[in-house]
Amino acid sequence: MANICVCARFRPLNSREDGEAICITRSDSQSFSIKDEKDKQYTFTFDRVFYEDSEQADVYEHVGRPIVRDAVNSINGTIITYGQTGAGKTYTMEGGNILEADNRKKGLLPRVVDELFSAINICGETTAYEIKLSMVEIYMERVRDLFDLSKDNIQIKEHKGNGILLSGVTEILILDGEEALTNLCRGISNRAVGETQMNAESSRSHCIYIFTVQKQVTNEKRVSSGKLVLVDLAGSEKVDMTGAKGQVLEEAKSINTSLSALGKVITALKSKSPHIPYRDSKLTRVLEDALGGGSQTALLCCCSPSLSSSSESVSILRFGASAKHIKASSRVSIKEDIDRKLDISTVKDLKLQKILKKLREKLDAETLDVILEEFVMDGLLSDPTTSMISSHEAIITSQTISSWKEATQRLVNTILELKREINVLKEDNQVTKEECKIMRQVRKRVKAKLRQANLHTIYNESTGTEFLRQKPSAA
Ligand code: ADP
Ligand code: MG
Repeated sequence: MANICVCARFRPLNSREDGEAICITRSDSQSFSIKDEKDKQYTFTFDRVFYEDSEQADVYEHVGRPIVRDAVNSINGTIITYGQTGAGKTYTMEGGNILEADNRKKGLLPRVVDELFSAINICGETTAYEIKLSMVEIYMERVRDLFDLSKDNIQIKEHKGNGILLSGVTEILILDGEEALTNLCRGISNRAVGETQMNAESSRSHCIYIFTVQKQVTNEKRVSSGKLVLVDLAGSEKVDMTGAKGQVLEEAKSINTSLSALGKVITALKSKSPHIPYRDSKLTRVLEDALGGGSQTALLCCCSPSLSSSSESVSILRFGASAKHIKASSRVSIKEDIDRKLDISTVKDLKLQKILKKLREKLDAETLDVILEEFVMDGLLSDPTTSMISSHEAIITSQTISSWKEATQRLVNTILELKREINVLKEDNQVTKEECKIMRQVRKRVKAKLRQANLHTIYNESTGTEFLRQKPSAA
């Protein structure tokens, strides 16, 4: 399972809840307790808790920034907001208005856009980046393209090496931050068009924003890419099925199916089940890479702090707690450890060290680092210090076979490319050999002619050239 960072966020009380009791008691920035209407108390610990007075910038710093940095370095990342309708999912994701200049209200999306473009701008001319944006929503188990409403049933396909793909989805090439925000705004307003057509509220569909960051280092053929996926899930509240009819009932069933499929996938991944039910819903299928692959995932459980919502909040927080199987692991230190482990000289097995050195000679440094990173994540390369093994054991064991397969596939592709290059060189060599043969025959014939004309060649050592001279006559 991917390294999941789970956070809880409580929004301030709204005007409807004004004067209501608050059900949470703060412990610290990771733990709190919550009381339900029956006065039952629960304690939760997450990677981070954002209380009512938290700023959008704090959420971005903790959840967004590391994932954006990874995407620029071709590591997939996903941020999911989960919670009941009105709990602050869309506010966390978008902020007041995507085009709004108010820096305090700016949500994750505009901050992701800012950082993506500033990160690629500081790379200068040595690396070329291409950023593409797609936006879809999943409503009643259909994936709709929010940039082209005529594409209202996008198929989800799996591509060897590239993972999960949305077949035929509109991908807009984005050149700067302003263009990204204008397009996001267009997608969001198309979502509203859909809402009236379907008589649905925005919280009745899952909205998915996909940034694909393609990177090519100048003078290198290889192109790598990272996918950054932001998911604003449909409201998780339980609808009273007894009273619900028609469209409302169907919507509720569909949301239930996808959110419970998400829960089942997380449970199956945690118990290392041989079968992970990704195909049980469109949502889990789209998020297959994010949940099962070597990507970074952040789950933000959004809740109201009011006592009247406490039962819903507890069920949201329980969902978050079930997803969180790695305790407060700092992503930065994980990366540092990996970087340290990428130093081949620290590999104890001499035979393996020799193989890795040979690979380093044959492959470009970046490809080898990707492979080594997968080796480390899969526990195939051991840590030089035992203390590190114990503290990051969970992370190493949490990496799935699929990320290992991806690295192997990349290695196989590189080997195939090398083989193709060898074949081309062999063909060139054969041509050169044949040319040499012809040259030797020509030389032989020229020499014979010269002999007939009583001339011979003299080789000048100092200039390295040959010249002709008449042979002295026998008399
Ligand atoms: P959801 O998407 O979960 O249904 P919204 O994000 O639309 O909920 O939030 C509902 C209302 O609460 C909105 O008016 C929003 O502006 C407000 N809100 C949510 N979170 C916050 C917050 N952290 N600070 C201020 N207002 C918030
Ligand atoms: Mg919303």
